[in-house]
Order: sequence, then structure tokens, then C-alpha cells
Amino acid sequence: MARSQIEDLVARLSCELGPEEAEILSSQLLILEDEMVWDATLAVIRLERINAEAAFSRAVGNIATRFLEIEDETFRERVIDLQDVEQRVLRAFLGEMDNALDLPEQPSVIVAVNLTPSDTAVLGRNNVLGFLMEEGGNTGHVAILARSIGVPAVVGLKGCLAGLEAGRMVAVDGITGKFILDPDQTLQARFAVLRSEALVASEKLAGLRDLEAITPDGHRLHLMANIALPLEVDEALARGAEGVGLLRTEYLFFQHQTIPSEDEQTEIYSDMVRRMSGRPVIFRTLDVGGDKVSDYLGAKREYNPFLGWRGIRFSLANRVLFKTQMKAICRAGVAGPIKIMFPMITGVEELRLAKEVFQEAVAELEVTGVAHVGALDLGIMVETPAAVLAADLLAAECDFFSIGSNDLIQYTLAMDRGNARVSYLYQPLHPAVLRAIKATVEAGHRAGIQVGICGEMGSETRLAEVLLGLGLDEISLHGAALPKVKQVIRWTKFSEAQSVVENLLELATATEANQWLANYIDGRKLARMEKETP
Ligand code: PEP
Ligand code: MG
Repeated sequence: MARSQIEDLVARLSCELGPEEAEILSSQLLILEDEMVWDATLAVIRLERINAEAAFSRAVGNIATRFLEIEDETFRERVIDLQDVEQRVLRAFLGEMDNALDLPEQPSVIVAVNLTPSDTAVLGRNNVLGFLMEEGGNTGHVAILARSIGVPAVVGLKGCLAGLEAGRMVAVDGITGKFILDPDQTLQARFAVLRSEALVASEKLAGLRDLEAITPDGHRLHLMANIALPLEVDEALARGAEGVGLLRTEYLFFQHQTIPSEDEQTEIYSDMVRRMSGRPVIFRTLDVGGDKVSDYLGAKREYNPFLGWRGIRFSLANRVLFKTQMKAICRAGVAGPIKIMFPMITGVEELRLAKEVFQEAVAELEVTGVAHVGALDLGIMVETPAAVLAADLLAAECDFFSIGSNDLIQYTLAMDRGNARVSYLYQPLHPAVLRAIKATVEAGHRAGIQVGICGEMGSETRLAEVLLGLGLDEISLHGAALPKVKQVIRWTKFSEAQSVVENLLELATATEANQWLANYIDGRKLARMEKETP
């Protein structure tokens, strides 16, 4: 019953909004079919002899608890899908036909502690003017769905919604993430204007999906997606990603209770490669350690984790695991173009050792005769100051660079990326960071290899001109940020972006650079408005 309800919803969403949006709920069908859910439920029934409803609920609850333990927003948000499916199945056990949610009778803003993706889908645009939610994050499915149906949503408002009774007037600003209670006439009029402007802007952005990221003076960049979970593939495609620039494979491991076998990994990887339909996928080998610890893999919390046993250090110490992963990736190469990238490289020695393990993996696949691809581009993440300083030596022995700006900033500015007290030091425009990126790009290009960036810097629209001007060949970013970054690239001459970078490189502090860039962006906006206004 639950399955057919979800299928109906998917069909409805597909008609009303399009197949990409419907895919968001299709992931719930996968949960219903997941072996992990079924096996755990059956085990609880057999062992404890309790009723199926309770056993199912316990099994889903256990998975949700495990997801919540992982220090990553993506997993926490997937818990909402799990709970949504759980509630639906339990309602089906009670013989209830479908969601009991009442649709609003007049145009309303929905205020909730939390909404499930299917609640959001059922509500859709039916008299819904906006969502205000105590829980949830910006990349959660509710936010994604709300965004794609064009309804403003402000989430994560814990503690701010008390006293918001039915019948009060409220203005919701999904752009700045604010709401205003009892707006006066002037404010209401301003919101009406904002709303129509936002609608025009998002229609324009959607139209960019199939266009190239090319500047008016003909400089071409590749915009790729950062992905952690298979279900993000659809979002990436919907936003027009040209491929996957960073597949954080460790998340696929975290989803399992035991290390997935070569065959299991091959199946998951192949499925993702196949779904990218010929677009390249860059597999980053396991990057555990740091803040991504996992007991079953044996990477434990350390006193100084970001300087500890992480990334390539862990993989080289677990050679069989590393080789197995690379075998699975090579096998997935049969389904479409792929590349392999090693994390946390600090020098040529590590790169050579990693390549040696890769060669062993290929040799073993050749002996067994299983279908695979043995000739692949092997690249590295440039995310340590050592890799920047030795970039010329590394470029001579690998096929591409991808700058991991999250770690590069952390290590260059000696600021723990997970520590809120030093988060003010996260400064992408710090002269040391800009120089590091510039030096990496130049070293890569001198050796004739491509240089991309895949840290969060790539998702900041305000930095798009800077990354363009620095000469990067590829930006890999969150799907949601892709259209805006593409728009900036299509508006900016490469020569102009280069002079932006020249100006920034002359400034001594990040504060001055931020201010300079903000003024420059304001000036451009003004110029564009004047050009567009007859
Ligand atoms: C980075 O360090 O910038 C990066 C992309 O890798 P991660 O965030 O997974 O460490
Ligand atoms: Mg990193």
C-alpha cells in the first residue's frame, strides 16, 4: 500500500513539476525495498517475536540513529525520508489510506516543526505561499522540493516559531532566510515586487541548464557536481552538471555496517556512472580520518585528527581495502568515463605508492578476466600546502589536479575547519590562499594537465569571477549553486576576471579583498541593470 501511494505521488509530481523533482520521492521507494530495512525487520520479528509494526519501526529507528551519528548534514537530512517512509508504512498497517494532512483552504504559509518530503509534495502549490520550519537544513529534501516548486521556505528556525498562531499575517523571504510577522502595507507591497522578481530570475536560471559555461570572449570552463550519495546524481543532472567532479566515496562506506565487498562496490559505482550517461565521474578514493571517523574501518578519533591518519595515509596502510576499492572503480569504468583521484597527498612518494596499488588492482583484474577499464586518468587533490609547494613535481607524475579548498584553507591558515571559534579564519580571499591556488594552476598548466577546484569555494557565487580569473579549468560544486555560477561565467569576460584577480592579489588582507570584491560585484550589478533598463 505504501509503495503504491508513493508511486502515485511520484507520478503526480512528475506531471506537475517534471521527472527530476519526482525523483526526490522515488528515493523513498528505494528505502522501502532496501535489504537493510527488510532484513533488520525480519530479524527483530524472529528474535523478539514482536508485531511487524513495532519491528519495522525499530529497524528504521536503528538506521536513523546510525545516520544521525555521522557528523554530516546529508545523512541527518536523509533521516527525514526514513521517518516519512516509516510513518506511511505504519499508517498503512492501521488501514489508513493516505496522508491525513489537510490542504489549506485559503492561501497560507505553512508553519511546522518539521515536514516530511511527502507532506511537502502533497501540499505542493495548493494554496501554499511559503514554509517556515523549525528543523531541517538548506540541502534537505524539503528545502529542495520547496525550491523546485518555487515556494519560499525558511528552515532551521528552532526556537523562533513559538507564538506564531494561525491567522496572523507573515511575510517569508526565502532569499535572505527571514520572516516578518505582521508586515505593514509598505512591506507587503515590497514583498510582492520581490516575489515577481524572484520568479523571473529563477525561470532564467532554469533555462541555462543545457547551455555551456563559456565566457563572452570564448573561454570555456567545466561545471561539475560534488556528490556523496547515489541519490544526488539526479539533482546534479537536473542542474546541468557536466559530470561529477568529486565523488566522496567514503559516504557509501558509511552507509554500510560492514565494508562493502568488491562486487557490492562495483554495483553501486556502476549504477552512478551509468546514470551520468556518458558524463565523466571522478572517484575520490576513501577519505576517512579527520572529522570523518568510522569505527568499523578502524579509523579512530585522534588527538589531532586533521593532522593524523587520514586520506591517502589510511588507504596506503590498508592496502587490501584500497586495492579492492580501485578494482571496483575500474570495473565501474565499463559503464562510462571515469577517473580516480587521491586525497590528502603531501608528496610524490605517496602518489607513486598509490599508483603502484592501482597497477596491482588492474593486474589482478586482468588475471581474473572480469570486465574493467585499466587505463584511467589518475589525479590528486591539492589540499595540503606541501602539495602546492611541490605542485611541479606532482604534476609531472599525475594526470590532473583538483584543489580541495576546504582543507587547503584549513592547512594554509592553520585553522581547524570544524572549530567554530576559529571559523572567522576561513578566508578564501586571504592572500596566502589566492597565491596557493594561482601557483597550483600555473604548475598544472606548465605540465599540460587540467586543474579544477572542488571545495566549497566553488559554490560561492561571489567567488565565481575569481575562480574564472585564476584560470581553473573546472569547478565542481553543489548542484543547487551550479546555475548561478554558470550565469556569472556567461556574463564575465575572461580578460575581466583575470584583472579582478590581479587586483585582489595586490591587496594585503582578506578584509580588503572581500571589500574590493563586494564593491566590484555591486558595480557590475548596477551596470547590468542600466544596460537592461531601456
Ligand atoms: C576539500 O578539502 O576541499 C574537499 C573537497 O574535500 P573534503 O571537503 O571532503 O575534505
Ligand atoms: Mg579535503
